[in-house]
Order: sequence, then C-alpha cells, then structure tokens
Amino acid sequence: MKLSAAEVKRQNRRMIYRYILKTDDVTKPEIAMALRLSTPTVGQIASELMEKNLILETGTRASSGGRKAVMLNANTDIKYALGINVTKHHIGFALVNVKGAVLDHIRIRKEFRMEHAYCREVYEFVQEYLGQKGLELDKLIGMGVSLPGIVDESQEHLYYARILGIENSIRLGVPADMKVPMYFFSDAAAACMAELYSQNTPDSFTYLALSNTVGGAYVCNNEIVAGNAGVNGRNGEIGHVCIVPNGRTCYCGKRGHFDAYGSALVLSELTEDGKLETFFEQMEDGDSRFKDAFEEYLGYLAILLCNILTTTNQPIILGGYVGSFLEPYFERLKKKVEEHYIFELAEDSLQLCHYKVEAAAVGGALSIIESFISKV
Ligand SMILES: [Zn+2]
Repeated sequence: MKLSAAEVKRQNRRMIYRYILKTDDVTKPEIAMALRLSTPTVGQIASELMEKNLILETGTRASSGGRKAVMLNANTDIKYALGINVTKHHIGFALVNVKGAVLDHIRIRKEFRMEHAYCREVYEFVQEYLGQKGLELDKLIGMGVSLPGIVDESQEHLYYARILGIENSIRLGVPADMKVPMYFFSDAAAACMAELYSQNTPDSFTYLALSNTVGGAYVCNNEIVAGNAGVNGRNGEIGHVCIVPNGRTCYCGKRGHFDAYGSALVLSELTEDGKLETFFEQMEDGDSRFKDAFEEYLGYLAILLCNILTTTNQPIILGGYVGSFLEPYFERLKKKVEEHYIFELAEDSLQLCHYKVEAAAVGGALSIIESFISKV
C-alpha cells in the first residue's frame, strides 16, 4: 500500500524527533545523513518541531564547509511521565522525561486498601511529590499505573489481583477531578516495557519478573504479545506453571505452582525484617540456613528457566526484585539450567534485567512517553 504524503511526513517527523531524542548536539546534515532524508526535508520538520517547542537550538559547531552548523537537542523540560507501581504494602514512583531518562524514583510504604480514599491519598501524594520537584501537574503527559494482576485491553478492569485481596475483578476508576490521563498495566508487562525500551535488548524474549509475585511477559519483534482476545493478558502467567505436583500451595489456591517456590517472598520472609537485601546480606555473611534456602531457590528457578527455553527457544530476561540481586550467582544458575537443558546454553539465552530499581514504575512511565512520541 502506498502511503499518503501526509503519512510519510508524519513518519519522518516521528523518526527525526526520535533521532534527536537519542542523540545530543546533532546537526541537520547529520540527521539527514543518518536517516537518509534530504536536508530540506529535515530542515522543514526541524522548524515544525521547534515551533512546538519539542526541540531547541543549543549552539553552533564549526563544520567542514566553513559555515557554522546549528546544534539541535530535545527540549527535555517539555513534558514528563510518572510511573506508579502499586503493591500490597508499598507504592513505587518513577519520574521520567521525554528522553526516557529516569530523573527520580522513590518507594513509600502504604498498605493497599480497596477504597476510594486510598486512590485519593495516592493522588494527593503525587501532587505533593510533583510540587517538591517544582513541577506543575500539567507538565505530566500522563501517569502509568502498574498493578499485580491482569488489566484488560479496555483499561476498565483488573483481574486476578489476589495478592491485593481481589478475588475476581474490580472496575478501575480514575478520580473525577483527576487532571492527568491515567493508564493501567499489569506489573510484569510494565517491567517488561522498561526492558523493551532499553538498549541492547533482543528483539524477541521472555521477561520473567521474580517479585513478591512471579509474572512474565513475551516480547515478539519488539512488541509485547498481548494474549488472546477477550480477557486480555492471560499469557505470561509464569508464576502459575506447575513445577512440583501436589507441592506447596500457591496464593492462587492450587498446588505446586512456581510462585510458591520462586517469589521473592520465599527468601525475604526468612529474614526478621522481611527485606530481600537482608536475606542476601545474611547469606553472604555465611548463614547456612539462608545458603540452603537459596540453593533450593536456584534449583527450582533453573527448572522453570529450562522449561521456558525449551518451549520458546528465545532469550529470557530475569527481572523483578530477585532478578536485581542475581548477578553474583548468575553463572551458578546457568550451570543448574544446563543440567536439565537438552541443548547447549547459548551466550545470550539468559540475561539479567537492565532496570534494577522500580522497573514496573519506570516501564509504566516509559510507555506513556512512547505514546507521546508516537503522536508527535
Ligand atoms: Zn498459582
């Protein structure tokens, strides 16, 4: 199908804006060369982007022709997105700019309550937080809220968030006086988005989130696979893969699911303060009970990873709370996977997540930035 002239122009505009977002101090001839566009095309679109205040001229640089070339940069102050990751006991926040840079992240303790008052309190906190950062609400493109359950395609319902005490589903609502658009995501998909938008990520992979619940998402050709029509997002429920018949009871009520062996809680609940950091510190200090528990943990994780690799033959990115602590033990984990795996483990088969902190909040914010860029 032949694209209309207007559509070609829109595509070029997005392409040029993306290029300026990821390249600092770039000149129009450099853009034209990199994107194989004519210099007048780049010049015209750059003027439009400048009119919209999306890009700025930030100085000049001597060029070979003797004339000074104008340097262009993205206006990083134009808009921001806020990611909010809701868990049972905490809320994580990540503030991201149009370049996708995480400017700030925080985590506060707040018990989830299924009440309007809870949403109101979170909204009030957001306003206060932005105030502290010197930002007005209208500087936000939107808020990306990630939740430990399945969010349907229509953005209207949250399903299976048993960890929040939601048995079936709830209707997702936005406070009536909310001035900023709000989008909802499942937490594993949001964390996966953070990986998807980072550099050097494979085009297709499985994302495994080893957090207080275990979740997953599949990426095919740089897009998250959304699952079947109807109740969307039922794929990637890796936490509920059975690995021990009649084994421990999963929070879903069934027995032997991986979540009961692989969630971060399996480790953190062994400590007195319930913190995962404490688990790894005490294990490194030589606590043999913790060493045994972790060895067992890696054993079950290896079985799961082997099963995923065998069925998908695609790299797996290990994320979530545990994923961010795995680096020192990664080679050992690979050896354990090899014990089960039929093929030789390729170099890139198993990878650790790029985003170690508040990945789900970052991913929620990044997907909002992404939709902003796609509409430029
Ligand atoms: Zn389960």
